[in-house]
Order: sequence, then C-alpha cells, then structure tokens
Amino acid sequence: MKGRGRILVCVLAVVVLAAALGAIAAGGARDAAAASCTEAQQQASSAALAVFRTAMPARQRAFNATHRSAAARRAFGAAQRKRLASLVGVAACTPISPSDAPCSPELHFVNGTFNEAGRDVRALGVRGELKTAVLFVDFPDAPAVQSASALYDRLVPPAVDWLGAVTYGRLTLSAPRLPTWYRMPRPAGSYSIDFGGSPSAFTSFVSDAVGAAQSQVDFAAYDLLYVVPSVRIGHADGEAYFGSSLVVNGSATRHVVALVAPDVDYHVLDHELGHELGLPDLYSYADVASAVGIFQYAGGWDVMSDADVGASYIGWEKWLERWIDPEQIRCADRGGESIEVTVQPLESVGGVKLLVVPVSDAKLYAVEVRQQTGVDAGLCDHGVLVYTVDGSVATGDGPVQVMTASTAHDSVRLRACGNRYDAALGVGAGETASYEDDAVRVDVLSANADGSYRVRVTKK
Ligand SMILES: [Zn+2]
Repeated sequence: MKGRGRILVCVLAVVVLAAALGAIAAGGARDAAAASCTEAQQQASSAALAVFRTAMPARQRAFNATHRSAAARRAFGAAQRKRLASLVGVAACTPISPSDAPCSPELHFVNGTFNEAGRDVRALGVRGELKTAVLFVDFPDAPAVQSASALYDRLVPPAVDWLGAVTYGRLTLSAPRLPTWYRMPRPAGSYSIDFGGSPSAFTSFVSDAVGAAQSQVDFAAYDLLYVVPSVRIGHADGEAYFGSSLVVNGSATRHVVALVAPDVDYHVLDHELGHELGLPDLYSYADVASAVGIFQYAGGWDVMSDADVGASYIGWEKWLERWIDPEQIRCADRGGESIEVTVQPLESVGGVKLLVVPVSDAKLYAVEVRQQTGVDAGLCDHGVLVYTVDGSVATGDGPVQVMTASTAHDSVRLRACGNRYDAALGVGAGETASYEDDAVRVDVLSANADGSYRVRVTKK
C-alpha cells in the first residue's frame, strides 16, 4: 500500500457490521422467491425453520402462563408468526446444484501476480482463524503521544469486523489487545523503510520491534504480526513482507505486515492482509503521484486499489481465496455461448456471485453485483460490475481492470472513489445497461428488489 496524503475517513465497525447483517436479513425476507443458496445453506435454514416451528406451541404456552393480558398474548403470537414467515422465506431459497457450474475461473499466473513472492495463497489458511498480534512500538526520539489502547480500538476491531463480513465469516482475525507501547532500541530516523525499499531494512525494523516486546509477548502463538510505529517510517501507509528469513524467538516468522501509524485508515490492515494472501496491488505504481491516475484501473472497487474507500475484495479474489464456492459461479466459456443468470450482491451471503468469461489461459472477464451497503457503503455507484483479471500482468500494472463505457468526471465522486467510480451497469434512469467489446457482451435485464440483478453474458 502506498500513501497518497488524502484525509482518511473512518467508519465505525459496529455500523459497518450491523449494516451488512441487516442487508443480509432483509434480502432474505423481502424476496425469498428470487433468492438462491448453496445446498449447505438451504439445509441449515430448513433445519432452523423446523426447530422454530416445533417449539412454537410450547413457547406460546410458556408466555401465556406468565401473561394474563389477551392483547399481550395475541401480540406474542403475531410476533412468532412473523418470525416463522421470515424463516419460511429464507428456507425457500433455491439450492444451486454443483453440476450447474461447468467451468473453473482458474488462471495461469505469471510474474507472481495473485501469488505474490511465489507463495501459496493457502499457506496462511484462507479459512478459519488467524491468530494475530498487533504490536505498537515507539522510539527514543519519538515517544508515543496517544494511548496504544486507543489506537488499537481505532484500527483493530474495525479491520477484524470488515474481514469477517467480506469473507462471510470464513476467515477471521483474533487479535487480542496488547495495550502497551514497546520502545525500539534506535531512533525512528535510523530506520529507512520505504515503498519498494530494501527487504533487509524492513527485516531489521521488525526484528527490533519483536525484540522490544518478546519478554512479554509469546510470538510463537501468532500466525500474523502487524507492527504499528508511533510515527511514519518512510512514506508508505503500509508494507507487507514476504519471505521466511525473519527470525523471531529463534524461529522464522512468515507473515508480517508493518503499518505506518498513527494516521492510516483501518482498511490498510485488510489491504496488507490481502497481500499476505497473495493478492496484488490494483493501483498504478507508475502513477502514484497522480491523485486521479493512481486509481485508473480499479478505482475504489477493491480495497487492494483504493483502500480509503474500504470496499470489498472483488468476487474473483474471493473465489481465489475460497470464500465463494465453485457452485456460486457460472461460466460462458464457449464462443457464441450466452448465459442468463440472477446474480446476488457480493455483500450478502449465498447465491450466484460471479459470472466468468475466460478469454485465454491467463485472462478472463468477470461480472458481479455490488450494492452500497455494509463494507461497500463507501462506493460511489451500485449495479453490475464488469472487469478483467489478467494473471500475466504484474502487480501495480493493472492485473484487474474495471470496464466502463462512461466518461463521467464528477470531481467530488472522483476524489471519493477514484477513477471509474460510476462503472457499474444498471437499468435505472440515466444508467448504462450494456457493456460490449471484442470479447464479450454483458446486458443487464432487470434489477430485483433484493438487490440482485438478472444479467445476460455472451462470449463472442
Ligand atoms: Zn499494497
């Protein structure tokens, strides 16, 4: 992650998570007939419905035993029936058969793209719990001026909640509070970590940080380490480290992220974690000095591009990390083939999430639906997003490019969400309903009340 001197906006984690959960619940209840889900989700919701329905009479009897008011009893009964109707709606989703997913969106990677530093993206464990230490360090010449606990509260719980929402709970961080600043042995100015700088300088910095805390922190208990210094070291908002040469407590620590404090937005933690999981930078290395050019490829549509917007990793990356299942993907992989599918918003749980058109071993087009809710509340547009993923393009050179026919340049939204801020297709007034080039055609057929879209994708 490279810094660019923009004022950052921090969204409270509670709000983000509540909005995400609210959207999921409302989507299921509002338009159950249109919803689809995996077999496992359908079985789970059916089981929950059966349990609730079986216990309804006993619950009413228990309520009646302690409430004499007929009105109160009727209200309780009505609330129970309302809850039952909601569960019936959720359980009515259409299970997706794995046999409906005839192709895989695998890509051949060159230049380490989507597998940074040649590491297996699964090395960190893309599902389950990552035990994480967030270490705050200060310096003899730059003692901390705020409490480590307050900084923890601003950075860590929101980043943890963001990741839980984006991965549908499949990957979580457990990051206990280490509420103390640890004093580095050397002045801040003696460390020179900068964007694309020397790995040995980075290693030296992190080794000193670990050395400062190792009498009180058992680093062997953690999978992932963030180091947050009291002042910026270099210009980067954050820097992810790859390799196994860093020795901590006598053993190699593989997963380290340095964060430059105290002024970054919490999404930088999730951006750097993306690197640890193999994801490349989606902003332009060649245009880091340009407020507009830096986000020319993917704008604010992915936290690996413009982290300040804080939007989700794109759907294809979620598939790469196995947070989206193969049965949630549809492919048009034969020339002339058209598929017509209802695509559920990336922000909600379940349903078809991604349409894919492979055009070579290394490149594909992907289509997904984005809504301005939950972690994506900061987006400047919503609808059907079309983008390319090219595994032969190096990090920082645009391995993901959002497609758009629009040439809109509203300066406020450009500043808020980067280039291509209005790229999503839609069927509303003033919206563009189709995208077409030499390889694909994408038509938006309708927008549904639950936030899903009916989409036709054709491979030419
Ligand atoms: Zn980065």
